[in-house]
Amino acid sequence: MSKTKYIFVTGGVTSSLGKGIIAASLAKLLQERGYTVTIQKLDPYINIDPGTLNPYEHGECFVTDDGAETDLDLGHYERFLNTPTSQANNVTTGRIYQAVINKERKGEFLGKTVQVIPHITDEIKNRIQLLGKTNKYDIVITEIGGTVGDIESLPYVEAVRQLKWELGNENALVIHLTLVPYLAAAGELKTKPTQHSVKMLMQSGVAPDILVCRTERHINDNIKAKLALFCNVNTESIIESIDAETIYDVPNLMLKEQLDVVVLKKLALPTDIKPSLTEWNNFLDKHKNPKNTIEIGLIGKYVELHDAYKSITEAFIHAGASNETKVKVRWIHSESLAVENVPEKLNGLNGILVAPGFGGRGIEGKIDAVRFARENKIPFLGICLGMQMAVIEFSRNVLNLSNANSIEMDEKTPHAVINLMETQKNIINKGGTMRLGAWNCKLEKDSKAHAIYNKELISERHRHRYEFNNEYLEQLTNAGMLATGTNPKTGLVEIIELQNHPWFVGVQYHPEYKSTVLNPHPLFIDFIKACLTYSKK
Ligand code: GLN
Repeated sequence: MSKTKYIFVTGGVTSSLGKGIIAASLAKLLQERGYTVTIQKLDPYINIDPGTLNPYEHGECFVTDDGAETDLDLGHYERFLNTPTSQANNVTTGRIYQAVINKERKGEFLGKTVQVIPHITDEIKNRIQLLGKTNKYDIVITEIGGTVGDIESLPYVEAVRQLKWELGNENALVIHLTLVPYLAAAGELKTKPTQHSVKMLMQSGVAPDILVCRTERHINDNIKAKLALFCNVNTESIIESIDAETIYDVPNLMLKEQLDVVVLKKLALPTDIKPSLTEWNNFLDKHKNPKNTIEIGLIGKYVELHDAYKSITEAFIHAGASNETKVKVRWIHSESLAVENVPEKLNGLNGILVAPGFGGRGIEGKIDAVRFARENKIPFLGICLGMQMAVIEFSRNVLNLSNANSIEMDEKTPHAVINLMETQKNIINKGGTMRLGAWNCKLEKDSKAHAIYNKELISERHRHRYEFNNEYLEQLTNAGMLATGTNPKTGLVEIIELQNHPWFVGVQYHPEYKSTVLNPHPLFIDFIKACLTYSKK
């Protein structure tokens, strides 16, 4: 196909309706029909990227192969589509303004007054079409963050208005995701909030082509007729999106509602190949009918907000299904742990995962949890900071290096077993300056890691400033903590394993970012297998 078509997804009434899941589910159906699709997220906030955001703000920061720190919705896109995203898939207002201001400083506007329209909207339109211009995609889906009516999202809605006009009806369409609430007292579904949000969109000159209505109850024909009348949308284009048991049900629900057919017809694209969702439904079947249940403790300091660990919990779901096992997560706040209460708080767990993180808050609790897993031979997976904590714990309690620590937590530690990377030493800016994205790692033959990946060279995604201090490698190795994966160019230790333990692995990288429905991550698969074995003891 020669020309890329564009689908815009806007949100109305309230945030958190699940635009990302609807976009990903539609993309999945289009992909199953043989189209190449990618999804992009436009975030109206001023940060250049979410890398500098506290996870409590918007949840996890997702990292792409090309080292972009992005919104967690990109994780959903990758997990549903099984294809990688990139920097171009996430754009923020900060990035847009930065680009425009840089051009202004270079004099590229030739003396013109630089304005929201046309300069900011032109930059937004460029970013939207960047993915289309790669000629890799038949369809680009662009999700506009926030809710229509927000001051911050106005330039984005305006850019959509312009693009829709420029590209023409068969090349661009707008899906508006809205809420149809059920009022228990009245015993009725209410359409008014949707009417208002469509009106708001129309005030900006954008008429939605399709309404996807989030609801707790089925939407009957009367409601559809009412919405059609008030919102200028034909009834076939009013799609019910009822609450689902799991987000992974949504592609099937959208298939039943024929969202994909409505979209393709409006874009004048053939509908002859039908989506099969065979592999997808295989996964769903295993996910919904587990033969076993295990419980894993997730030790982190942002556990109040589960979205802060989104990719990890989704990786549990993918790898759990492939083990036909339900993974229950016990959320444990690292700040609530102390040597005295660890046996009680971690009692009965079949596995322990110490999560990524930054800064000193709660790290002693993480170290106590590592010790408990090591001494009691409970399967352990440490990710990024979790791996660093495992090195510190071993140094303190096995090598007896008192006060061993990471330079991040204690600049004056006598034993900096985790050190600031050489390449980080002269860096002052915080944004986008960590060791980010995909790096190669060479695995030691005969290691657990090698057996798990079943190959010698792997590539995984990173997000860190500190590293294993190779000055302690020999001592640690002699005592039984082995470095089984290293960066082939720099020698940076990427994986540690314990010799006298059934399953104790720490990884400097983030395997969770690469787990998808169709490609559960091997490390998570094996970790869950080990937890299962342990649970049967
Ligand atoms: N704070 C640690 C570092 O920067 C770990 C980072 C992480 O867990 N992602 O090295």
